[in-house]
Amino acid sequence: MTTETEVAGHLEEVRARIAQAAERAGRTADDVVLVAISKSQPDERIAAAVAAGQRVFGENRVQEAQEHWAQRRTETRDLELHLVGPLQTNKVKDAVALFDVIQTVDRPKLAERLARAFDAAGMSRRCFVQVNTGEEPQKAGVLPAEADAFVAKCREMGLPVEGLMCIPPVDQPVAPHFALLARIAARNGLSGLSMGMSADYAAAVELGATHVRVGTGVFGARQARG
Ligand SMILES: *Cc1c(COP(=O)(O)O)cnc(C)c1O
Repeated sequence: MTTETEVAGHLEEVRARIAQAAERAGRTADDVVLVAISKSQPDERIAAAVAAGQRVFGENRVQEAQEHWAQRRTETRDLELHLVGPLQTNKVKDAVALFDVIQTVDRPKLAERLARAFDAAGMSRRCFVQVNTGEEPQKAGVLPAEADAFVAKCREMGLPVEGLMCIPPVDQPVAPHFALLARIAARNGLSGLSMGMSADYAAAVELGATHVRVGTGVFGARQARG
């Protein structure tokens, strides 16, 4: 099987599973955006996904994203890029130049820098606030108890906060984390919910995900970082 037919097949399968999960929850496939996470994937698989019609992609590092996407963006105009990894403040300017959506707004200093960068550029980028639903010390994201205040603060700064994002602990059932994220979003009037990865995107869709982030499920196993 060629890389092109393989990736196209995976995409079809993931889209079908999203549609089935949406239907089980009384939603439609159109309610859910598949963000194909292309980090650590070889170029030909990324090209295959674009050729198969996938347009929304996510990366977790600014520099790697530039390598994968800077040129492609000039060739395929309707691509949409999401940053799903931690953003250092010294990379804010580059991130704002490349990404359409910043999913990992997770601290006041970053929010402030983003607001400043949007001002300086005379535009803004869609933002999600990352919530550390499992309260894991090593994981990015605001604590659930601090989320309401942080969302309010981001809004005061003028950030267009569209939703919340979470990465549940690897060793726990995901449903309570997805449900918690949905509750926090609802009480803050946020419609976007970025949750669910290759192992659990169907569950996420059933619990209201508007964005699922699927990497290996679309592209196959990642390469080791060089
Ligand atoms: C890598 C990554 C994903 C995709 O993970 P898979 O298990 O390969 O689907 C999703 N979200 C974030 C934040 C990631 O870093």
